[in-house]
Amino acid sequence: MKKVVILGAGFAGLHIFYKIRHLIGKKIEVTVIDPRTHSLLKPSLPEVAFEGAPISHSLVELEPTLTSRGAVFIQDEASHIDALDSRIELASGETVMYDYLFITVGAVKDYDAIKGYREYGYSVCDDKEAQRLWERVKTFEGGKIVAGAAKSTWGTRVDAPPLSAPCEGPIGEIMFMLDYYLNEDKHLQRGKDYKIDVFTPGEIFFEDVGDTPREVVGKYMKAREITLHNNKVLTEIGKDFIAFEDGTTMPCDLAIVIPPYGAPEALKRSQVGDEKGFIPTDGQMHHLDYPNIFAAGDITALAQPKLGHVAIIQGAIAAATLMKELGEEVEIPPHDLEVFCIMNMGGHDATLIVSDNLYGGPTDKAIYSPLSKMMKWGFDSYLYYNKGHMPPDFAMEMTDKLLKL
Ligand SMILES: Cc1cc2nc3c(=O)[nH]c(=O)nc-3n(C[C@H](O)[C@H](O)[C@H](O)COP(=O)(O)OP(=O)(O)OC[C@H]3O[C@@H](n4cnc5c(N)ncnc54)[C@H](O)[C@@H]3O)c2cc1C
Repeated sequence: MKKVVILGAGFAGLHIFYKIRHLIGKKIEVTVIDPRTHSLLKPSLPEVAFEGAPISHSLVELEPTLTSRGAVFIQDEASHIDALDSRIELASGETVMYDYLFITVGAVKDYDAIKGYREYGYSVCDDKEAQRLWERVKTFEGGKIVAGAAKSTWGTRVDAPPLSAPCEGPIGEIMFMLDYYLNEDKHLQRGKDYKIDVFTPGEIFFEDVGDTPREVVGKYMKAREITLHNNKVLTEIGKDFIAFEDGTTMPCDLAIVIPPYGAPEALKRSQVGDEKGFIPTDGQMHHLDYPNIFAAGDITALAQPKLGHVAIIQGAIAAATLMKELGEEVEIPPHDLEVFCIMNMGGHDATLIVSDNLYGGPTDKAIYSPLSKMMKWGFDSYLYYNKGHMPPDFAMEMTDKLLKL
């Protein structure tokens, strides 16, 4: 029986687990390691921050989910990976050996890299921050709001688009959902009671898609009087201002940011990453230097943008690559990435974005419709009620066909 370890039970780790679980007890034993008790479904965090949705609907309890399906769950954090010895040291001091390792630890959201964040900044990127933001938003009585992503930097070992921000979809949700809440629910007046400014560190906002989604987003920003500022690299958040690398500042009563993304210190120390700590892989998600290590999701250097949909594509590839190595008859899907996300815009509004322009493909769609909102509800609920299990492949193929229609 081969020992398989999945390090990190987020989108990618759970997807891999569900893909390989039928081999447990036949060819493999699986151990999943994560410091959290619950996997966090991040796409529903904006509803926590701007609609007061209960956090419990974004959480999947790991221990019962995994052990009832034949895996061992260790609630702990990897503090070191000895890739030459196939050994993981955990924070508790325990050691775990593996024949195959999946590194799916996601990216660190480095709030502390932003001066003043802990005192004056807000975010939506994890359960604690999303709930903290809702406490602020529901008592906000008006003023200047500034939202945007900090600049992230990446390694150079693999050929991936070097985006300035990990993904700006959540910024879209922040600006539209907050505007909806303040305008429709709190009855504050745009322009008079509050004003939303958005910044991007990039030359263009939404740099991971083509012109069509950008035009749709731009149109609704204009309708809601949201102003965009390009090429703004965040340096500091103060009590009543936000500052940028070019020396400019903006008055600001509420700053909501996506912090820079980085790799966990444990990976940097273990020297299994590129110069920034992200895992370099080939298109079959094999580590470039260690053949018994696979990686998928935000922690891979190839995942640009850092998106759940990309984590799922890569997780499916990594799982199939292992299964093939174990003698199973499976096709390894190609590493064909695309941006696929549904941007919640408050109320019944949402825009579904599908684009592969970033990778040279022809698809570039944006569908603004209540149907998109229903799809988001359907997808998020499916994930929650099925314990982080993605909808079946045929449902995704049907969605694809519907979109083409
Ligand atoms: C606010 C927000 C909204 C988003 N909305 C969307 C959306 O609508 N659609 C979409 O496709 N994507 C969306 N994303 C992006 C998506 O959530 C991520 O791309 C996705 O979660 C990445 O999956 P992952 O498995 O790589 O990492 P994660 O889901 O972050 O999981 C990583 C796991 O590894 C664990 N871990 C970390 N360090 C260690 C360690 N040392 N040892 C063991 N375990 C460890 C963590 O506890 C965590 O459980 C959104 C992101 C944010 C922040």
